[in-house]
Amino acid sequence: MEKRKKFMLSEADIPTKWYNITAEMKNKPQPMLNPETKEPLKAEDLFPLFATELSRQEVNQTDPWIEIPEAVREKYKIYRPTPLVRATELEKALDTPAHIYFKNESVSPVGSHKLNSALPQAYYNKVDGMTNITTETGAGQWGTALAFAAKTFGLELAVYMVKISYEQKPYRRSLMQTWGAQVIASPSMSTKAGRKIITDHPNYQGSLGTAISEAIELAMQTPNCKYTLGSVLNHVSLHQTIIGLEAEKQMEMAGEYPDVVIGCFGGGSNFSGITFPFLRHNLQGERQTRFVAAEPASCPKLTRGKFRYDFGDETGYTPLIPMYTLGHKFTPANIHAGGLRYHGAGSIVSQLLMDGLVEATAIRQLETFEAGVLFAQTEGIVPAPESTHAIAAAIKEAKLAKEEGKKRVILFNLSGHGLIDMSAYDQYLAGDLTNHEVTDEEICKGLEDN
Ligand SMILES: *Cc1c(COP(=O)(O)O)cnc(C)c1O
Repeated sequence: MEKRKKFMLSEADIPTKWYNITAEMKNKPQPMLNPETKEPLKAEDLFPLFATELSRQEVNQTDPWIEIPEAVREKYKIYRPTPLVRATELEKALDTPAHIYFKNESVSPVGSHKLNSALPQAYYNKVDGMTNITTETGAGQWGTALAFAAKTFGLELAVYMVKISYEQKPYRRSLMQTWGAQVIASPSMSTKAGRKIITDHPNYQGSLGTAISEAIELAMQTPNCKYTLGSVLNHVSLHQTIIGLEAEKQMEMAGEYPDVVIGCFGGGSNFSGITFPFLRHNLQGERQTRFVAAEPASCPKLTRGKFRYDFGDETGYTPLIPMYTLGHKFTPANIHAGGLRYHGAGSIVSQLLMDGLVEATAIRQLETFEAGVLFAQTEGIVPAPESTHAIAAAIKEAKLAKEEGKKRVILFNLSGHGLIDMSAYDQYLAGDLTNHEVTDEEICKGLEDN
């Protein structure tokens, strides 16, 4: 029988509900805490910062299914459902008995999965009567997604972009500006948090943690303005489950069920999105699928971090979040996978990791680019440097299958394409890229600085 390459759903198959895994977890993630009182945060405590409905979703641990608003589903149609593709050419190149599938989130107009949460976040802020929203962006993926979403729902957006990316990835800035957002390099002189860091460290290249501090500060000082975050938080993971819910139907069309599901890991949103709907069947005792989070060896919060309460940002403006963390003052090396340069992991995935329900692997930069180039040369898509971590982990699984001489069904999320990251590929092809080693001392120091 001829091998089928792509599995496509129709618009009518776009899920009508997101999946809230916390409702079905035996050990619930611990609550976020108010840093001053150490009291657990209720939805109302989050209202000053986030849209009402997003705040409710953040703390909802009872409803397994949350209705997707019709207005959001309508916008999802711009690019959803996304294809599930069998990586037949990569399988051939690896000469593996494994079947490798990937969910192609790179087809969104912004080039990544980030739009899945940007659209509902902009929508709920509009419903709340906001006129402005703020956010931060690392590599620029979240900023571009939110820029389009804000324009779509008629909101003004200010984006604090990590300075190193602002300089390395000028086209992401152009995209945000094309969609009408205001982009500011972070650290900037426009906030107290930014001014303090610039004064203390004049050459600081910025980090997600600092940019978050700046975006929160601006939101708190501006009327009718709230803050949004593109990863880490529970409501972001919730929105991203649309990836796995579609993939589940598509794997059914393929007549297979994954033995292992893989996602790259920054704060956890795309990993949550592809895995939670499948993990549900493990929780219900029906399946024993493995779930692998692929993180950069230079920012190894899952494999070498500690589980504890920590701030989500550098300055300490956010609530305390229960997470695997390297410490909120930890500054990761300037790897090209900017979206993975974050010190902590979302609280749901952190709890799942602690309970042994998901696994993690750390991968070095050179191995990820080697995987990315092989994927580009076989499947044709140039993957985002972030996504190459998932590909490298999938290749490892496929090689293991070959060694064992056993079929293994592998599913990974292609979180984005790399067409705006070509300078990274240039450097790799020129032999100018290196691995960044993190010593135990650096990790201890990051955790002590808390
Ligand atoms: C932001 C981003 C990531 C990392 O963020 P998660 O929240 O961990 O998914 C991964 N891949 C791409 C393409 C991204 O834009």
